[in-house]
Amino acid sequence: MLNFILKLILIFPMITSAQDLDFLKSINQQYESYSEKSINHRRFKHSDIKPLINSTENKNFFSVNKVGESAEKREIYLLTWGNGPVKVFLWSQMHGDEPTATMALLDIFNFLKANDSFNEFRTLLKNKLTLYFMPMVNPDGAELYQRRNIFEIDINRDAVRQQTPEGKLLMDIFINLQADFGFNLHDQSTRYSVGNSSKPATLSFLAPTIDYEKSVSSVREDAIKLISRIYKNISHFIPGHIAKYSDEFEPRAYGDNFQKLGTKTILVESGGYRDDTEKQFIRRMNFLTLLSAFKNIAEESYKDEDPAVYDKIPFNEKFIMDLIIRNLKYSSSGHEYTVDLGINKEEVNCNDAKDFYYESTLEDVGDLSVFYGYEEYDLKGMTVSPGKTLLQSFNSISEIEKLDFADLYEQGYTNVVLKENINSDFTKLPINIFKEFPKDDFYNLKPESNANFIIRENDQVKYVIINGFIFDFNDLSFKGNGLIIKK
Ligand SMILES: [Zn+2]
Repeated sequence: MLNFILKLILIFPMITSAQDLDFLKSINQQYESYSEKSINHRRFKHSDIKPLINSTENKNFFSVNKVGESAEKREIYLLTWGNGPVKVFLWSQMHGDEPTATMALLDIFNFLKANDSFNEFRTLLKNKLTLYFMPMVNPDGAELYQRRNIFEIDINRDAVRQQTPEGKLLMDIFINLQADFGFNLHDQSTRYSVGNSSKPATLSFLAPTIDYEKSVSSVREDAIKLISRIYKNISHFIPGHIAKYSDEFEPRAYGDNFQKLGTKTILVESGGYRDDTEKQFIRRMNFLTLLSAFKNIAEESYKDEDPAVYDKIPFNEKFIMDLIIRNLKYSSSGHEYTVDLGINKEEVNCNDAKDFYYESTLEDVGDLSVFYGYEEYDLKGMTVSPGKTLLQSFNSISEIEKLDFADLYEQGYTNVVLKENINSDFTKLPINIFKEFPKDDFYNLKPESNANFIIRENDQVKYVIINGFIFDFNDLSFKGNGLIIKK
């Protein structure tokens, strides 16, 4: 009997998490040789990836098929690789402004095409799996860098009604493939934290639920076990940065329906990471996540995992803001009190959605001690006053460019008025420009107002905040953007 067990162990050696880790570390070291260098920011378009997709045709057993079109007639492709019995279907960017995984898929294609020291691993995948990739499900949304498709429908709420050509195509391909595993690849808010920690949820996973009771079917349990394994592996690279996405049942979403229909489905959400605005590090973590998944499925090592690992992954919470300034003194109506300021910056598309500028908001005021900032300052002992608008108006932007900004800040001004009509909504100048003198009272700490402040110590200006960008008064190097406010 013992002999028999020993034989079994020799034939089916248990693939441990430590072995996964050695493998993923060596892949990570080689990552630069696989990363698709021509795509290096988030606002790439369908026309940028189309030649890359077509160029994989016939490369190392890849086949590329145009399987449909978006509402605006952009081609949607299905790439197939491998000839194993286990089918794995991956689709990305059904939300047009969620491109991180599409970049990672391009890197995966390069990895699968390569011929190097990982050939043995490729052979394993090829023999065990057939991989099906549908990158950029919503190319029209990507064109405008918006979540929804061109009908303004959220494709991920269209799994039942199927009124979008993109959503219908995704469902048709799904039904046609009857895949064993499904990977639903998205981006989430960069302000999600892992539980109530200070760490951004760089990745969040979910085995979507199949009903309101959150039942665990055998299909869902396998997805849970696979996530447990991936979580252990990828946590090594981003410890404390992985969360679990909300597990509320959504009957109109694809992941929930696919899980219900028998495909072991995993949601991967790319969130935020410090100093990674263009999500190139997160893309790399996606690449490792998917290779870990392929390895664990091909070796069936996920089957030994404890689902309790998944249960213990903290949920996404919202304890992160872009900028937090703590312990400022503020005086108003004869009262002086201590406040923290929490400021968020939203991206606004410009230049045909090829670029963006930021519009800031004062998110919250008061005791923000339970929150964390991507950027944080403790300015205890300093006083804050909201920026004012200079009464004098100017005739041209060049007049404004010539202003002595330091002098304006010392007088408490962060905004000026311009009479000239101007097309743009922002400038690179460290000042905001109004079309008319604002009627509202901007001189208080009202949440949801634009974040412009002067911060002083002993009546000397120390810091200035223009449109949510804080800078040192003695330095005055401004790397943000000011707004042109037309209303
Ligand atoms: Zn999404």
